Amino acid sequence: MSNLAIFGGSKSVTMDPGDMFTWPIYTIEEEEAVLKVLRERAMSATAITMEFEKEFAKWQGSKYALAYTNGTMSLTAAMFGVGLGVGDEIICPSVTYWATILSAYTLGATPVFADIDPDTLCVDPRDIERCISDRTKAIMVVHYLSHPADMDAIMAIAAKHNIKVIEDHSHAQGGFYKGRRIGTIGHVSATSMMTGKSFAVGEGGILTTDDQTIYERALAACHYERFNDKIITPELKPYNGLPLLGMKGRVNQFSSAIGLVQLKYYDERIKEIRKAMNYFWDLLEGVPGIQAHRIDESDGSNMAGWYIAHGILKSDELGGLSVTRFCEALCAEGVSCSMGVNNPLHTHGIFKSADIYNHGMPTRIANTSRDVRELDRELPQSRIANSRTYSVPWFKHYRPEVIQEYAEAYKKVALGYKELLEGDKGNNEETMGIGRWFFYKST
Ligand SMILES: *Cc1c(COP(=O)(O)O)cnc(C)c1O
Repeated sequence: MSNLAIFGGSKSVTMDPGDMFTWPIYTIEEEEAVLKVLRERAMSATAITMEFEKEFAKWQGSKYALAYTNGTMSLTAAMFGVGLGVGDEIICPSVTYWATILSAYTLGATPVFADIDPDTLCVDPRDIERCISDRTKAIMVVHYLSHPADMDAIMAIAAKHNIKVIEDHSHAQGGFYKGRRIGTIGHVSATSMMTGKSFAVGEGGILTTDDQTIYERALAACHYERFNDKIITPELKPYNGLPLLGMKGRVNQFSSAIGLVQLKYYDERIKEIRKAMNYFWDLLEGVPGIQAHRIDESDGSNMAGWYIAHGILKSDELGGLSVTRFCEALCAEGVSCSMGVNNPLHTHGIFKSADIYNHGMPTRIANTSRDVRELDRELPQSRIANSRTYSVPWFKHYRPEVIQEYAEAYKKVALGYKELLEGDKGNNEETMGIGRWFFYKST
């Protein structure tokens, strides 16, 4: 009889995970910090937020930090910060969460999608130049699913073409790329701090930069009460008092208060996650069909910022086994495994035909001089990303005996591929139907 649980063998994962996956971790300190804000009726004030921004900037190694209602707003402010406006193009990987780029529309700008690298799953620097035109103003980089993007190559292309780089580090908070903290390499960075993220404070986002003009533009965008006569950027000065984007971006101080406490323990907690995740991947080293999605951390200069970890399926080493079948077998082993990553954005109608502002034509092409949708045809890796990726457990604690059980499940399924090929109906469609538009589900 088969030893695979899907065929009646015993399950690999038997231990109670306990709080292995519980996140975020909080203590009485957060509870007290939140209560203090409530008792002072200071939810809409800014003193605690400004304290949090100062600490966050120090931790990150950036000159300025500004907190926002959510990550989406901080990314919008980052785009406005670098001067993105009507008629400008911004390059972004197609495989990411919508909030990375969708609000470019709000600024009248045009998203142009670049392909992802098959190993890092981040934007492929080799594909960026194909996307550049004389209207390109910025590149939005996402350090995707924990993995740092290849920033040296990206910064070199940006310098050559005089383009600004924005880092969305919602998936890699606290990571390092060649000795530099993620979020300090581009001209400006922004990140989500919502409950599902690794740096989780509740709804909130934070922008960081070393550039005073970008900072002041990002502030003028939607922090009206701090957009005052302290602003020195000449183009902004005459308009202080009212937010230039016509939106309010202030974070509530429950989030800032939690952030101040979380920050104290964050490095310590992610260090343990790192140890657990690397242990998991080490156990799977050399198993056919399984490729870790992680950066080499051995010399200490690179570090992933672990967040909803995934793995890469080398289906050709497993006789063409589909990711659907692979995950099915893992679920039977007691692993909650899901197929795919974020659906490639260029396949959604909002980037194809939606006319959001009554332009009489698709918003995507309403403000630029070329049909950038034609470039979407050449995104081969983005198209197949869902069919070669699967989730792996995002361990929050280093507990070898639990991690071993999970690694054993992946190993058993990969080694049992021949039995699984029989009954493998393949993936639903080439890419669609197995990925998702978002990971976090609020209940
Ligand atoms: C979560 C997330 C965002 C948006 O953040 P919100 O706080 O949910 O607005 C942006 N980009 C990426 C990559 C994200 O995962």
